[in-house]
Amino acid sequence: MPELPEVESIRLTLAKNTLGKKIIHIKILWSSAAISIPGYEFAELLKGKFIENFDRRGKYLLIGLSNGITMIVHFRMTGRLIYYPEIHPLDKHTHAVFCLDEGELHYSDIRKFGRIQLVPTAKAGEVASLVKLGPEPLDEAFSFDQLGQSLSKKKGTIKAALLDQTVIAGLGNIYADEALFRAGILPERNTRSLKVSEIILLYNSIYEILREGIDARGTSFRDYRDAEGNRGSFQESLMVYGRGGQECKGCGNPLERKKIAGRTTVFCLHCQR
Ligand SMILES: [Zn+2]
Repeated sequence: MPELPEVESIRLTLAKNTLGKKIIHIKILWSSAAISIPGYEFAELLKGKFIENFDRRGKYLLIGLSNGITMIVHFRMTGRLIYYPEIHPLDKHTHAVFCLDEGELHYSDIRKFGRIQLVPTAKAGEVASLVKLGPEPLDEAFSFDQLGQSLSKKKGTIKAALLDQTVIAGLGNIYADEALFRAGILPERNTRSLKVSEIILLYNSIYEILREGIDARGTSFRDYRDAEGNRGSFQESLMVYGRGGQECKGCGNPLERKKIAGRTTVFCLHCQR
C-alpha cells in the first residue's frame, strides 16, 4: 500500500507532468466502487477542466481542478495513477483514462480497493476521511510534544498507535517498522510506557525515515510505481520490513517476525528494547 513517501512521490511526478493541463475527456471502464458518483456524471463534471494544483494529506492525494472541484484519490492497496505522454494501451486493470490536451492519465487498480471522490474544493477540509487524520509528520508545526500528546491518548502497542491515522497521518506497515527499528523501540511496547527520551528518538526517526523514503521516490516492495511508471528505491535501504528471519543489518542476529496490531511486524530483539 502506498504510504506517505509513495503518495508524495506520486504527487510530485504528477505535478511535474500534468499541472496546467486540460482534461479533454474521460473514459470510464470500471467505476462501480472506485468512484463515488455515476461514471457519466463524473466524466461530465471533469470534462474541459484544468488541473490546477496538487496536495497531499496523509495517504490521500488531492487534485485541484478549475471548476472548484477537488478529486481525492486514496490508492489503498494497489491503486495507481500513471501519466503517459502519448496514447497508451489499456490493460485489464485500467479503470479510468483521463485524456489530457497533452498525454493521458491512467487510473488502474488490481485489487480494486482504491477510491476516487469528488468534492467542492471549498469543502475539501470537511471531508470525513480527512478531518479525522492526525498531524502531518513532515509539517514544520509538528513537534515531538504533539507526538507525545497523541500517543498519550492511546492504549495498546506502539505499533498499533503508529498505524492509527488519527495519531499521525501517512505511516503504514513499512515506515512504522523502520521508524521503530531506527528508534530502538520494540513494536509491542505499551505506548504509555515510552519515556520522553524515547518519544524524541521516535519523532526524529519518523521524520528521517519519511524524508529518506521521499528522496528514494518510495518503496517498491511489490507493485508500487510513481506517476511516471518508475519504481522507487527505498526497498534497498530497508532494515527490517519484509526481512523476517534474515540477519539484522545492525547486529547480525536473525530478525523476528510476529503479527502485531493485525499486521506482520519485523523487529530485532537485540537492537530494539
Ligand atoms: Zn539487531
